[in-house]
Amino acid sequence: MALQLNDCVAVVTGAGRGIGRAIAVALGQAGATVVATARTLEQLEAVAATIRAAGGTAVAVRADLASAGDVAALFAHVESQFGRLDILVNNAGLGRFGPAVEFAISDLDQVVGVNLRGTYLCCQQAARMMMRRRSGYIINIASVVGFKGYPQQSAYTAAKHGVMGLTKCLAVELQPHGIRVSAILPGGVDTDMVRAARPDLDPAALMQPEDIAQSVLYLLSLSERAAVDQIYIRRRDSQPF
Ligand code: NAP
Repeated sequence: MALQLNDCVAVVTGAGRGIGRAIAVALGQAGATVVATARTLEQLEAVAATIRAAGGTAVAVRADLASAGDVAALFAHVESQFGRLDILVNNAGLGRFGPAVEFAISDLDQVVGVNLRGTYLCCQQAARMMMRRRSGYIINIASVVGFKGYPQQSAYTAAKHGVMGLTKCLAVELQPHGIRVSAILPGGVDTDMVRAARPDLDPAALMQPEDIAQSVLYLLSLSERAAVDQIYIRRRDSQPF
């Protein structure tokens, strides 16, 4: 039976394009009320319109996750408009790449500020709402660089390792409150981010954003008896384990 998320409210960060867009659309198709957030309102409105055109419910809310004020305002909006939060998918992210010894501090701050600090702030806000209802699911989109290391990717890799550390601690802290916390660690997915960062990769050989959205639906479809801490999902022709 297809997953039914009717009555659930889901916040998806970085929902304007790429993996976040696919996750938002999949959650909308499953019946969730989707709050699609990122900085580019035009893209968010297009995603919300796609969900609504398919019979779902979605709103677009602009927020820059580098701003603690924007994050607080986002969740205050969810609280006032819907009064509950069932699912948070922390997907927003950005990559800046280059040799560690020459890496600009401004780029380091931006990468850590959005990928790690932004995720942390969203988790805090969401957990406060979810704890009141003693239920909820937080899914953090980390990366294969959440456990591996590649050249030219030190800041991004450090931030994604940080996301994994955060995920592990929150999973333990929030379990007694009825809240599940998991991470998805994708390898290469055909999105704007990868096309810019890795022009050497053939887009046709990469996973599609929908493959990651499917992993999100899988986590949400688990029975109350089961918990999956992390999913490492990679291109089929890449190195296993
Ligand atoms: P993408 O196409 O570049 O999309 C990134 C999304 O994050 C956009 O919607 C962007 O919207 C949003 N975002 C960026 N900075 C933001 C900020 N300061 N505040 C709010 N939103 C912000 O990238 P993607 O490939 O889909 O990546 C999605 C996630 O998957 C990221 O966390 C990435 O690290 C992870 N990931 C990707 C791959 C891959 O191969 N593509 C692999 C592993 C993990 P705005 O610019 O409009 O704000």
